[in-house]
Amino acid sequence: MAKLPIVTYPDEVLRTKTSPVTEFDSDLQKLIDDMIETMYAAPGVGLAANQVGISKQLLVADASLRDEETSLIVLINPTIVCSEDTEDSEEGCLSLPEYVTVLKRAISVKVKGLDRDGNPIEIESDSFLAKVLQHEIDHLNGLLLVDRIGRIKREFFKKRFAREHSLDKK
Ligand SMILES: [Zn+2]
Repeated sequence: MAKLPIVTYPDEVLRTKTSPVTEFDSDLQKLIDDMIETMYAAPGVGLAANQVGISKQLLVADASLRDEETSLIVLINPTIVCSEDTEDSEEGCLSLPEYVTVLKRAISVKVKGLDRDGNPIEIESDSFLAKVLQHEIDHLNGLLLVDRIGRIKREFFKKRFAREHSLDKK
């Protein structure tokens, strides 16, 4: 296994909708293992393939730190088939280092997809895992936290990013 570099905002691959996985070959298995290692090393609770520059519908997640019922999940070509109720969720993102914000997320979700061998799986959650899955599926659709917040908060984020970015260059 190898740790992969994590792509950060404003890289275009993060804003591009990913393509479905069609080949369940050894290259895919290696990518999955590398993504798992990268997620744990970060450390993070989830990682989408486009966060390591691969525009495919693949995510890994492990919400067990805050949700003891769950363990490592590999989910391919996922779709949210139903979601219920909303609440505030405080989230950060490995692709937006040092940025934390509060946004609305569904409390419970049911997600369908495939496992790493291409077998259909279904995951239902009304705990922390539900938030992680929504966050990672957003990534696969080219959406970031900053696309889910209001216009004023987004302008504030952009100003802060521009300021920090110009400081880096000095
Ligand atoms: Zn993220």
